[in-house]
Amino acid sequence: MQRIKKGDTVQVISGNEVGARGEVDRVINAWTIDRHNQRQGRNPNADKVLVRGINIRKKHQRPISQTRTQTGIIDKEVPLHISNVLLVCPNCDEAVRVGFKLDGDGKKKRYCKRCQAFVD
Ligand SMILES: [Zn+2]
Repeated sequence: MQRIKKGDTVQVISGNEVGARGEVDRVINAWTIDRHNQRQGRNPNADKVLVRGINIRKKHQRPISQTRTQTGIIDKEVPLHISNVLLVCPNCDEAVRVGFKLDGDGKKKRYCKRCQAFVD
């Protein structure tokens, strides 16, 4: 189960942008990277999230084709490691740790460890 999913609001807890909040654009899972590179095994260091508007770097983008419209020096988000962000609970509006427990239908769901409310 994923603690952080696409579309979640997260808060940064480490690095240059501590306290900043943003929406998760993409979760980069270790497994998908391994599959792409044809490598075996799981690499926990590869669990990353791309958060909209956070961790922006200048990227020197060179034109490679007619379809690439953004060229030159552009601002681009760089993925953060998943351990450097916390989910913002929609119920209590705090950066919280996420646990898992079963709901009434016996489905495993994420919940906020602070206010005990289910997240999804
Ligand atoms: Zn909460």
